[in-house]
Amino acid sequence: MIQSQRTLERLNNELTLKRTALITALAQSNNLAHHSLLHTLKMSNPEHWLELTEQQLGSEYHELITRLEKLEAAVCQIEIGQYGYCCDCEEKIDAQRLIADPANQRCSKCEPD
Ligand SMILES: [Zn+2]
Repeated sequence: MIQSQRTLERLNNELTLKRTALITALAQSNNLAHHSLLHTLKMSNPEHWLELTEQQLGSEYHELITRLEKLEAAVCQIEIGQYGYCCDCEEKIDAQRLIADPANQRCSKCEPD
């Protein structure tokens, strides 16, 4: 239990950092559409940001968005008690892998390093 609280804290900390990075990137963008998107995001719950940004951001945001998706998925899995299982084969993901990256969604067999 304590362990999963610590994991949750780590995931939430990174979520906050990545959301800040997204806001900063949008604020510095030359694209006017990004500024109106930024305005929308600031008025919305961060949990809805991914739906709101979907298909509105170019490939330069791909990595950030993918990371946010992974982090949100992991937080959601902790909340429903399904954390730490591979999303392909449903085997337990080994602890070392989760320590390296608590947002890992797949075991080493399904996603070799
Ligand atoms: Zn697997």
